[in-house]
Amino acid sequence: MSQAQVEHEWMLPIRALVGKEYGRIYAWDAVNAPMIRHWCEMMGVTNPAYTDPTSAQAIERGGLIAPATMLQVWCMEGLKINNYPPGSTKENPYEALSMMEAHGLPSVVAVNSELTFERDVHLDERLYYSTRLDNIGPEKTTGLGTGYFVTLVMSFFSQKPQGDEKIGELLFRVFKFKPANPVKAVTAETPAIPKYKRPAPGMSDDTRFFWEGARAGKLLIQRCKACQILRHPPGPICSECHSFEWDTVTASGLGTVYSFVVAHYPEVPPFEHPNPIGLIELDEGTRLVAQLIGVTREEVKIGQRVKVEFNTFDDDLVLPQFRPLKG
Ligand code: ZN
Repeated sequence: MSQAQVEHEWMLPIRALVGKEYGRIYAWDAVNAPMIRHWCEMMGVTNPAYTDPTSAQAIERGGLIAPATMLQVWCMEGLKINNYPPGSTKENPYEALSMMEAHGLPSVVAVNSELTFERDVHLDERLYYSTRLDNIGPEKTTGLGTGYFVTLVMSFFSQKPQGDEKIGELLFRVFKFKPANPVKAVTAETPAIPKYKRPAPGMSDDTRFFWEGARAGKLLIQRCKACQILRHPPGPICSECHSFEWDTVTASGLGTVYSFVVAHYPEVPPFEHPNPIGLIELDEGTRLVAQLIGVTREEVKIGQRVKVEFNTFDDDLVLPQFRPLKG
């Protein structure tokens, strides 16, 4: 901290926590081969020292070892938050961050994380870590806002009868801050739900005819002038005869659901969810992707007869959509 900078009074008890050691968090399981194998598979790691006990590397290193970067994995809580094994501390090693929140610094962004390894970790070792609040920097203003860089260091140990051995360290630094441009509170003047526009299709010289057709209430299909083959999506060249000459035909607008998906998540405005999207096979033979309307997700069926409808969004966007025919 520079001499000129005055510490906020509320920061004093928080800064007094610097250097505090928080209790142990134990690992649910001893270091084990299945977890190592799953991790390697997910990460695309193929070093046989981790998975093949007969490999020269594993033998040279005294048996299978865990990838060093799995350090943090062993003592994780699992899917339930704060669900640590019996004997683990109930202390909150992030209490300094909670205290800053109470003083108007709600936001957090991870800044950096550094891992240090002391030695290989072997199967059946039982690990734990403890956390130290290592440092709180002086008050800083960045592009994000004003706050403090907070550094925590987690030290990992292996339990040994002759005395626990340190195996590595994880430094974790966050910026805890008050945002420079906080999201404005919702008032009567600002609508709670902003009106999102529907994403417009990308348009090129090859596809413009299709969207202009839709605007005119026509479902147009590109046709090769040389060999008469219909094609969709539109393109500059016929895949059959390589002719660049093309015109269009107006489709009847009738077709069947060839396939479909129903989008549930993420719920992206302005779409309603669940959002059924069909791959429609037109009676003329080409297929196109379009939203299905007037049908619930339970009602959509492959082979269902559908008819095109042109609907206008955001004043000037006309999209073909398909509605199931009754009966
Ligand atoms: Zn052709």
